[in-house]
This record gives sequence, structure tokens and C-alpha cells, in this order.
Amino acid sequence: MDNAANDTIFGKIIRKEIPADIVYEDDQCLAFRDINPQAPVHLLVIPKVRIESLETATSEQGALLGHLMIVIQKVAAEAGLKNGYRVVTNIGAEGGQTVPHLHFHLLGGRNLSWPPG
Ligand code: AMP
Repeated sequence: MDNAANDTIFGKIIRKEIPADIVYEDDQCLAFRDINPQAPVHLLVIPKVRIESLETATSEQGALLGHLMIVIQKVAAEAGLKNGYRVVTNIGAEGGQTVPHLHFHLLGGRNLSWPPG
């Protein structure tokens, strides 16, 4: 996918045009600290290819989505989240999504209440 088609704030982070506190990177994805953390550990895990949200992912991208889940498991372990954590992806306006590039929030390090807001 060309740069213009990946021109969100996360596209800029992937291309290293703006800084981010990156905790994990491979050829398919990136994990970095959320700039406005909602918990002591708040990471975002994103694919390098732009997928707008989980809503627009295709079955051909199933292996990539599975890879993101395993990376979440890995970075959660590296963050020392032994007592649990939460994984969230917001979809669309009513889901509270503000950046149109698929991302999984990994939240942990405190007791997380339910239901969310
Ligand atoms: P969402 O509201 O689910 O789309 O989440 C977008 C998240 O991206 C929010 O939690 C923001 O704090 C976070 N965010 C926005 N810009 C940046 C940035 N430059 N670096 C890190 N996190 C960011």
C-alpha cells in the first residue's frame, strides 16, 4: 500500500515520520505506548498495512490478525502483566474509534472495571 493510502497518524509512526515509544516491531506490525495512557500499561498494536478497522478486515488477512494477537500476548508478558489485562479495539463512530487504522489497545497494570464507558 502506498504512503498516501496509509496517511493517518499511525501511518506516520510506521514510516518513522513522527516519534513513538515503540516496544516491539517486526515486518508485519508495531507496538508502541499510547500517548494518552488510560492505565499504567497502555500499548497499541497495529498492522503495518492499513486496515481501517476490524470491520473492514478480510478473511485473507486472518493470518495477520492472528499474528497481532500473538504479539499482544508477547508484549503483555514483557510488560509483566501477570494478573491479567484487557484487549480492546474500537470500531467506527459509536465504537469510539478516532484513528482509522486498525489498532488493538492493550491495557493493564490496574483493576479494570466493567462495563466500559
Ligand atoms: P481510538 O480512539 O480507539 O481510535 O484510539 C486511538 C488512540 O491513539 C488513542 O488512545 C490515542 O491516545 C492514541 N494516539 C493518538 N495519537 C498518538 C500518537 N501520536 N502516539 C501514540 N498514541 C497516539
